[in-house]
Amino acid sequence: MIDNGYLFAKDNKRIFINTSLGCAGQCSYCYLPKMGYSNSSDNYRTISAQAIIDFIEKNKLDINQKTLITLGCYSECWDEYNKNETISLIKYFLKKGNQIQLSTKKQIIEEELTEILPLINYFGQLVIFVSSATISKHDTVEKNTTPISNRFQNFSLFNSLNIPVVLYMKPVLKGITINDLDLYKKYIEQYKIRDVVVGSIFTNYISEETVHFSNKNELFYTKNSDEDMIISELSKITNVYKRSSEVMYKYNVSNHIEKVKNEVAKLLEKDNSGHGLGHINRVLDLSLKFAEKENANKYIVSLIALLHDVDDYKLFGMENAEKLTNAKRIMDDCNVDKAIQEQVCDAINNIGYSKRLKGHSPTTLEGKIVSDVDMCDALGANGILRVYTYSMKNGKPFFDRNIFPIEDMNAEKYTRKCADSSVCHIFEKILKLKDLMLTDSGKEEAKNRHQIVVDFLYHLFNEENAPEWTEYLNNYLK
Ligand code: SF4
Repeated sequence: MIDNGYLFAKDNKRIFINTSLGCAGQCSYCYLPKMGYSNSSDNYRTISAQAIIDFIEKNKLDINQKTLITLGCYSECWDEYNKNETISLIKYFLKKGNQIQLSTKKQIIEEELTEILPLINYFGQLVIFVSSATISKHDTVEKNTTPISNRFQNFSLFNSLNIPVVLYMKPVLKGITINDLDLYKKYIEQYKIRDVVVGSIFTNYISEETVHFSNKNELFYTKNSDEDMIISELSKITNVYKRSSEVMYKYNVSNHIEKVKNEVAKLLEKDNSGHGLGHINRVLDLSLKFAEKENANKYIVSLIALLHDVDDYKLFGMENAEKLTNAKRIMDDCNVDKAIQEQVCDAINNIGYSKRLKGHSPTTLEGKIVSDVDMCDALGANGILRVYTYSMKNGKPFFDRNIFPIEDMNAEKYTRKCADSSVCHIFEKILKLKDLMLTDSGKEEAKNRHQIVVDFLYHLFNEENAPEWTEYLNNYLK
């Protein structure tokens, strides 16, 4: 744990940096005096970016690309006296690949960002938090801070620069912030604000949670009853969070997902066996819909959906399928957390019809969702098209009236050879999938898609004048 006032770090997951200790803002709730620092401009102290960097290096803070850099959490970092130092730090950490959050009550202008913008590598590497605890009482509660009309120009600027910008309604001041609810709603609509953090004030009253940048156990989260009402009302019009770290996590994982998508595209873009990008994108889309309904972790669902075929034995051989070589490499390259990698690999290892025949199935909700969706994509109109594509690739007929399906299918027979015709494959696998669903969403979707395949077969056998196959289908469905 490191704390020199300007920099606080419990570990290398997140560090808090303030390039000043002291502020002329004179907010009534300011934490600086509570932490033993002055919030008067007379005792204004700043630190250079280089001194912070030297401090980090001298203390061997093991900062890596996963370390979240938090600027301005308890002292203004964009004052005239210290904004150049803050800019230098932002440049330093952007070049190192870190994700940065900057909280401010100041208005930032585009010219100040000239050297920063070219260094941003992905959407969400730098996220701006515009603090505001009151609108109508600004003159008394946030006395010497930038007026709201100027401060909120940050939303227009950063939206136009495609940099995420968050309304930071923290702290919620009891009986004050809530009175401006309609005004906040108006600004959220006007500036198209997509993310809002509604957060508790920190006080000396002991509660269950100590403030993350305080090691002295002297500041605690102190929730008040107005917060729930504000969250409930604002959630109707935008995304609302209780912690800034949740917003940073959202942008961090969406960056991971983009990177993973690009890597998967490189591996599967040429596939014409029905496991290509079309299939992956459909599985991702439907999995996210199921995840919403089933209340699952969308990040993990996305990773499983994107990576579930990148080591498929039919495409990449048995050795890669067993070791999950490609999935692991992609997740390592994209900096996915090791614990999440394990969950993803465990799910992928248990997804697939052949694995189900061997008695394996995913155990987590996220794995079950992708398993169901993967099977749903083998049903319905796309399922039929994929079977057709696969038969074209393997030179097997789509329908041969003289070859009937294997009825006692097992894992060994299934992996040993490809079905003699697409219609046999439909009987041997596709029509069984409906009963292998693991989630309610999957069961509902599979029922509809199963019926599409059944209807198709009746039409096919009718057009082929093959009544013996119609009878076979009737018996099969009994
Ligand atoms: S702007 Fe921030 S640091 Fe400055 S007085 Fe207000 S709360 Fe304190």
